[in-house]
Amino acid sequence: MNSPLLPTYARADVLFERGEGPWLFARGGERYLDFGAGVAVNALGHAHPHLVKALNEQGSKLWHTSNLFRIPEGERLAQRLVDNTFADVVFFTNSGAEANECAIKMARKYHASNGQPERFRIITIEGAFHGRTLATIAAGGQQKYIDGFGPKVEGFDQVPFNDEKALLAAITPETAAIMIEPIQGESGIRSFTTQMIKQFRELCDKNGMLLIFDEVQTGVGRTGKLFAHEWANVTPDIMSIAKGIGGGFPLGACLATSEAAKGMTLGTHGSTFGGNPLAMAIGNAVLDIILEPGFLEHVRQTGINLKQKLAALKDSHPDIIEDIRGEGLMIGLKVKPLNTDFISRALKNGLVVLGAGDNVVRLLPPLIIGDNEINKALSRLDQTCSEMETK
Ligand SMILES: *Cc1c(COP(=O)(O)O)cnc(C)c1O
Repeated sequence: MNSPLLPTYARADVLFERGEGPWLFARGGERYLDFGAGVAVNALGHAHPHLVKALNEQGSKLWHTSNLFRIPEGERLAQRLVDNTFADVVFFTNSGAEANECAIKMARKYHASNGQPERFRIITIEGAFHGRTLATIAAGGQQKYIDGFGPKVEGFDQVPFNDEKALLAAITPETAAIMIEPIQGESGIRSFTTQMIKQFRELCDKNGMLLIFDEVQTGVGRTGKLFAHEWANVTPDIMSIAKGIGGGFPLGACLATSEAAKGMTLGTHGSTFGGNPLAMAIGNAVLDIILEPGFLEHVRQTGINLKQKLAALKDSHPDIIEDIRGEGLMIGLKVKPLNTDFISRALKNGLVVLGAGDNVVRLLPPLIIGDNEINKALSRLDQTCSEMETK
């Protein structure tokens, strides 16, 4: 494939032309069931009528004005996020990495504004993924993303997953914050126990550190709660979101308590595109649906149903599926054959699923799927497993 695109992605040779709900239609007319949702982005599936309406209405009125002016749709979206979370203030971005950049800057500035600028270090967890900017690759700590890009941004101390001793040892007078994904997505759907999440909170409180949750993947209903940290009944000081909140439109946000955000005063941060009227109209439209009574309950029920059926699938294919993990509609299948082989075979069988670390096949369907789509996905997964057994 000769293409002028920078060759940083291993793209599957499929050209999707149209989507409808959880379905994708390729150029030749083939139908695919989309259990990847553009990496947890298409929370409401493709071409959701309410989102299309919002896009068209706002699109014919006003796209962009810059943040030099008031943006009522943004004030409304921020207020709704505040009303439904721990947060008091919101900064809008265009991506998850930018939301994390804001979170990192905010945590450092908080201590600087307290007269402790030396407190700038942030503890992160092995296997973390926080984005691909220079600071967020340092935060994620994965060598394959860091190598060759010059000196690693200073100030990130990584500790192993679920290693209490290492965590305690990493806390110094220079530590500003702990930053975690409540469920690690890219490294293979790895959940912290509720107890561990509570401990992160306690350690932060005890040591005057801020707790940052990266809910870029877990947020906006993905796990069956509006945000995954609600499962543990623990709130952060700062939270980054993106992916699902735009339903496919590039949109992210950094949410915080007013205390954590107190250093972010006039002129300390900015974004040209962030929070523009078009993005805000779509973010509001996404929330209209996610906040409808019963929607999150539907995600929880669908997630339970999916997990039960996957457990049965595992029982009938013990040589293929080793483990099932995750919450709500963020599910990982740890497989025995190479996950990339499994994924390309599933694609041939008309099912889009994604890879993740630890040889995991990731299922991130649109949150609007029902039993019918689950049954179809399961029969395609079953077929894929059977084909791999006879290989
Ligand atoms: C996807 C993701 C990011 C990065 O988001 P981008 O929009 O690609 O910058 C950050 N953190 C987590 C947990 C993610 O899943």
